[in-house]
Amino acid sequence: MINEERLVQTFLDLVRVDSPSGHEEAIGHELAARLAALGLSVERDASGNVFGWLEGEQAAGDWLLLCAHMDTVGQDRGITPVIAEGVIRSDGTTILGADDKSGLAIILEVLQVLKEGRSVAAPLPHCPLEVLFTVEEETNLGRPGRIDLARLRAREGLVLDSGGPIGTFVISAPSQDKLTVTVHGRAAHAGSEPEKGINAIRVAAEAIAAMPLGRIDEETVANIGVIEGGTATNIVPERVTMKGMARSRDDAKLQRQTAAMVRALEEAAARHGATLDIETARTYHSYRVAEDAPLRRRIEAAARRLGLEPQPTASGGGSDANIFHCAGIQSIPLSTGMADVHTKREHIAIADMVACARLLLEIVRQ
Ligand SMILES: [Zn+2]
Repeated sequence: MINEERLVQTFLDLVRVDSPSGHEEAIGHELAARLAALGLSVERDASGNVFGWLEGEQAAGDWLLLCAHMDTVGQDRGITPVIAEGVIRSDGTTILGADDKSGLAIILEVLQVLKEGRSVAAPLPHCPLEVLFTVEEETNLGRPGRIDLARLRAREGLVLDSGGPIGTFVISAPSQDKLTVTVHGRAAHAGSEPEKGINAIRVAAEAIAAMPLGRIDEETVANIGVIEGGTATNIVPERVTMKGMARSRDDAKLQRQTAAMVRALEEAAARHGATLDIETARTYHSYRVAEDAPLRRRIEAAARRLGLEPQPTASGGGSDANIFHCAGIQSIPLSTGMADVHTKREHIAIADMVACARLLLEIVRQ
């Protein structure tokens, strides 16, 4: 059965292996070795994603994909986990990386329990399991070719990469448009002949001020997150670059939101005679899981058997589940109990991690 001490130790071990996005080599190596030791056949693709397959002697039914991402958000390294009163945090100087090392540790613990069953000749019947640990989920989620999806056998999957009380699962997630903008003004000496210049910072500022941003409605948000420009106080700035995004679970709303952001830029540029390079790209696509979808029913039934309240929820974020849905793999993210992710306050309760592992085991056994 789920071993709390071992699960916590696995989690702490993984947290201590640095893996900011784009630097997953060490953790990928570690995880591939662990999967092989747990009896899976293991492969890695060109991007470094780790794949594993466990048919099991007693396996029956269809493949089920279990996914978590190996990278952690930002550039933090040397994470020092601290345990107090049943909760694991960082030492306050970095993120913790429970997003998504809790998912990795929980999957490994369930595989460990299945292996134990085999070793004492009392195998737990389970469906054939396909494991995928991904790279660059935080930075390059929608990059074409990030994952060699052709290797996947499953048509259904669980993505251990969400928060909330255990029993929470994500049935709807948004599409995202990414905007990359360059405003081209005209440089001039700001002291002697400012009238010859076109101030690109001013154009960008007017455009941003005119844009609908932040929470647009219950299922739509938008943000300008990066802006750079200008070189000196006595030069009318010639160039500004900015990056932003819009997300909605309704694709028509997303299209309108992105168009409104582009329009604000075009109007500001026109007022000042500036020109623009605007690139918009749909980086991932929304999905919605039907109420009667078999995987959803399976999660709900397993949760109820354990006395957990199934809590279907809509998310404002994308995950690997968005990518799998596009590839025809019905996928649902489960909460591992991770909280305050992407901040230095990030934490996870040991009891939640254990409860999630029990839930996952209950879902995969037959
Ligand atoms: Zn995550």
